[in-house]
Amino acid sequence: MNTVSPVTALKGVGDKTAALFHRVGVDTVGELLSYYPRTYDVYEKPVTFATLEPDRVQTVKGFVHRVPENKKAGRLTVTTAVLEEFGTYLHLIWYNMPFLRNSIQPGKTYFFRGKVQRKKGRLVMEHPEIYSPEDYEKLLNSLQPVYGLTAGLSNKTVTKAVRQSLADLLPEADYLPGKIRTEQRLVEYSHALRAIHFPATQEELLPARRRLVFDEFFLFILMLRRMKEQTESLKNTCPVRRGTWPSRLLASLPYALTGAQQRVWEEILSDMEGATVMNRLVQGDVGSGKTVIAVLALLAAAENGYQGALMAPTEVLARQHAASAGELLEKCGLRLSMVLLTGSMTAREKREAYEKIESGEAAIVIGTHALIQEKVHFYNLGLVVTDEQHRFGVRQREILSEKGRAPHVLVMSATPIPRTLAIILYGDLDISVIDEMPADRLPVKNCVVDENWRPNAYRFLEKETAAGHQAYIICPMVEENPELEIENVVDYAEKLKKALNPSVTIEYLHGKMKPAQKNDIMERFASGDIKILVSTTVVEVGVNVPNTTVMMVENAERFGLAQLHQLRGRVGRGKSQSYCIFMSSTDNPNTRKRLEILNKSNDGFYIASEDLKLRGPGDLFGVRQSGLLEFRIGDVFTDADLLKAASDEAARIECEDPALDLEEHQALKKRLAQYREEGIRRMSL
Ligand code: ADP
Ligand code: MG
Repeated sequence: MNTVSPVTALKGVGDKTAALFHRVGVDTVGELLSYYPRTYDVYEKPVTFATLEPDRVQTVKGFVHRVPENKKAGRLTVTTAVLEEFGTYLHLIWYNMPFLRNSIQPGKTYFFRGKVQRKKGRLVMEHPEIYSPEDYEKLLNSLQPVYGLTAGLSNKTVTKAVRQSLADLLPEADYLPGKIRTEQRLVEYSHALRAIHFPATQEELLPARRRLVFDEFFLFILMLRRMKEQTESLKNTCPVRRGTWPSRLLASLPYALTGAQQRVWEEILSDMEGATVMNRLVQGDVGSGKTVIAVLALLAAAENGYQGALMAPTEVLARQHAASAGELLEKCGLRLSMVLLTGSMTAREKREAYEKIESGEAAIVIGTHALIQEKVHFYNLGLVVTDEQHRFGVRQREILSEKGRAPHVLVMSATPIPRTLAIILYGDLDISVIDEMPADRLPVKNCVVDENWRPNAYRFLEKETAAGHQAYIICPMVEENPELEIENVVDYAEKLKKALNPSVTIEYLHGKMKPAQKNDIMERFASGDIKILVSTTVVEVGVNVPNTTVMMVENAERFGLAQLHQLRGRVGRGKSQSYCIFMSSTDNPNTRKRLEILNKSNDGFYIASEDLKLRGPGDLFGVRQSGLLEFRIGDVFTDADLLKAASDEAARIECEDPALDLEEHQALKKRLAQYREEGIRRMSL
């Protein structure tokens, strides 16, 4: 067995488990080993009730006097029990686990481990794990890995598979040249791997993580540099001359481009008519107006006889882009054939799309990952655009452009990355920034409130919808139990319907709905049919319904700041005043401080930098902010120093031995090839 063996090479991993692993991006033993824990469970000594702190996972010891009670609450079965210690009560609560009633015996001592919250003056522990004193004794003081999971894949399964891989893999020499390891004070690779999954102590964790983050950045940058070499000097074989179509579109818009949009558009135009092929990143905060720039570029290409493709990370977004591009074209009277290609289309619809793409009939192609499937052949692809690039891997972008012969590449992203980091991360691209918001925008008004304010929020929603506007309400995912996510959203929508005036149409949306259902809901929301959309974070990226003026986020403390900023970006997209309500019942001062940052500012760059100050590089496994799918462990913000170090080392090795031909670089060369392979495979998710 080696790192490229399929996971089925492991004992106890059959096809069924392998399929589950595939869903989290793990096909090979090597990928399993770089499926690092999301966090660790620390099994600390039990504490007394009086010393319990809110929002922290802690353990208590106690027994119940009475058999736990089961109650129905909507679709949920809620099981409750009460512990008492010297006059302090602790309420235990579980969802959809009615069988617990029979497994917790009154009078018998258990250890309960979970996060405690103060709710309506009571101390409540939600979903505690239950241990016998003997079992807990065994775990005491250990760090247990917690992996990202998917329905059907348990933490135990992953843990066992990782343990086995580590035991069975033949020892290999470290692939990182010794010089780099010494220079950067990095621990040995196999040691780091073992320690990241099964740290003996907390102290072991930091150096292990440091090594693995370095590796991840280093391999990524090396790959990027090779791509840059390949593309940078490519002759422009798709020269795009300035024509009249883009100006026709501009003349038909109900607004004028902002100065920043104009500048970026000009940069794109001169790239596309220049001597070498365009490779450009357009960075602009949410709502800065990137879509119209993409459409302009697609039009310019089309006018010169080239096909253009726009790839979006979600089906909802792809459809939205197709709809709005169609509208723009209609308005300026340009009859171009545009084709949509997404995963949920029927086989027949797809076949028709393939034919139009291959014959060249389709001038503009808009779609999801479906665009990079093997079956898709373009006639003369001259421009590829990826929207929300941070949701794709570099390899995916590369594969799309390989569908043409050196087409121009335009990449859009809203991730607020400082320029110094952007130069490293997007090393193969030139960078344009849209640093100005459309002038007719009113800044979103924010508030951070607790649950007591909810009735007011509901009255406010009624007022806004009565005035013809629309609203989103975001329910958090139930992290402990992804299965609960759906019920959570459905329940919330039902409760809301009862609480609001019945004339307000309310619908819900969650990630597990069928694509056709999702599309239907989104279309009805976009058309104004649905007034309030109760949703999980599926609306987070790119969605544009300018008539929506309220974004209300329940349990805002559970989201990362970058994510909250993205969510807020769904409103304030039209001329009307918009509002964002962050609902949070926690009194944890740190959380308060984080939400206060959002409350004070609407500027993505500012938020990212303040967040960094608050979290600091010491925050080992905080909520990952960058949302860059590329990295499994590194965080480009908090690990910026390592990113720079990796970039320097990559530059040095590139100088000394660009093709990695030296004997001492053979292992690295092999690892790099493997890394690229993994990138290709991960893409099929
Ligand atoms: P993002 O940069 O987040 O992708 P969009 O391209 O979706 O933003 O644009 C957000 C909204 O702003 C859209 O409704 C779009 O029509 C509008 N818009 C874009 N540019 C301008 C402008 N210069 N003036 C006014 N509105 C604009
Ligand atoms: Mg967008």
